[in-house]
Amino acid sequence: MCGGKAARLRNFDGIADVWPIDSIDQLMSITRRTFLKQSTIAIAGVSLARLPIITATVAPKKIIIIGAGMAGLSAGYELSQAGHDVTILEARTRPGGRVQTLREPFSDGLYAEAGAARIPDNHDLTLKYVKHFDLPLEPMYPSQLSALRVERDSKQEVSIDGFTDGLAQYFGSEFRGPTRFSKIKGGNDNLPKAFARRLGAKIRYGSPVVKIDQDEKFARVVFMDKGARQTISADRVLCAVPFSLLRNIEMPANFPESRRDIIKNLHYDSVSRVYLQTKKRSWEDKGLNGFAITSDAVEIWQPTWSQPGPRGIIMTYNRPGQAERIAAMKDSDRISSTLNQLDPLFPGLRDNFERGATKVWMEDEWSRGAWAFIGVRDFIAASSSEGRIHFAGEHLSPFFSWMQGALDSSARAVKQINEAA
Ligand SMILES: Cc1cc2nc3c(=O)[nH]c(=O)nc-3n(C[C@H](O)[C@H](O)[C@H](O)COP(=O)(O)OP(=O)(O)OC[C@H]3O[C@@H](n4cnc5c(N)ncnc54)[C@H](O)[C@@H]3O)c2cc1C
Repeated sequence: MCGGKAARLRNFDGIADVWPIDSIDQLMSITRRTFLKQSTIAIAGVSLARLPIITATVAPKKIIIIGAGMAGLSAGYELSQAGHDVTILEARTRPGGRVQTLREPFSDGLYAEAGAARIPDNHDLTLKYVKHFDLPLEPMYPSQLSALRVERDSKQEVSIDGFTDGLAQYFGSEFRGPTRFSKIKGGNDNLPKAFARRLGAKIRYGSPVVKIDQDEKFARVVFMDKGARQTISADRVLCAVPFSLLRNIEMPANFPESRRDIIKNLHYDSVSRVYLQTKKRSWEDKGLNGFAITSDAVEIWQPTWSQPGPRGIIMTYNRPGQAERIAAMKDSDRISSTLNQLDPLFPGLRDNFERGATKVWMEDEWSRGAWAFIGVRDFIAASSSEGRIHFAGEHLSPFFSWMQGALDSSARAVKQINEAA
């Protein structure tokens, strides 16, 4: 417990309640589901930073950032802008991490999101960077045609408001109101790509980090470079990777056990998506826009509604409960079972089906899960630095499971690093 602090229980319309620290156990006992439904938690003293994150360099430092997801990219961008010497080590051959737009194996330039898709209108950090890089936004949802609410044996045509009311019922009130959500025209990966363009050669791709060490003078990072181990030293290291991967990186011998336990035990949720490309959008002839929510809380989207036709993509978004069922199948079965599930909802789907694709986040070697809810106590413990080692990422923010969370956590880490001696 941290004397004198207070935790604020927020909904997306503003601060709903201020919790004295005495009741933090009560706060911790909020289930993830209730938490998602009711609130986002902001802790007094670590509230959201706004742009510009830092305006002046206290003392230029050499900084190694591990991970070129939204947290690592935004930290790298802000720290370099302020005059620090930044190197980002990224295991993959692309930037963006869990912001990934799938363009293969689709035809005609069609695309769909594997990860981050919606940008809520109150995610100020995400929207500020979108604006900063001049990226065009468009509505997330179509206002035309009908969506579906699907119960076990029945389906009902509803407006797009009816669809987002369904989302609110399952996932929390912040999902209500279709006009509150945007997406980046051309794919959300244009946001990490914009950061990466500015950072250029400061990002080293294909460079998975395997070890971090530190002493009173320096931090050292060991990474793999074309099969060989390489070591670089820095004043500060920022770990911007999910704990599901950080737990595989060797940490300094004196790294506290309590912190190792938090990193080792953080649970990551499973999400699986299945995509079906069709040669025409036959559902539109029936007055449907390709969006639906089922009583199993599976979302069905037609991400191509705003892209040129005639081909289209319909996809399922399976969260924990359903995601594991999809993950347990062979890839071809994931596609055929989804075709069986969706054909009765969208007449003509099977007849027009051309090819499928899948994304199972638990299987992604450099994610190993979709997102994590750390809880207030571990959030406070894991957000501080450990000597020269700092931490950021979606999991270290009240806005967990959103790009805003990655950016919020990175803003906090950037300030810590900039102000460090
Ligand atoms: C299915 C899904 C749906 C989502 N929907 C939304 C949404 O609608 N709206 C929204 O705003 N957000 C959404 N999100 C959340 C958003 O995508 C994430 O919160 C955010 O992208 C996380 O960024 P990050 O930098 O914290 O982590 P990551 O994106 O995971 O970045 C970490 C980076 O570290 C790299 N890495 C890992 N291990 C190592 C290593 N050992 N060495 C070097 N590099 C390493 C990884 O390759 C990765 O690039 C969604 C996420 C998922 C998975």
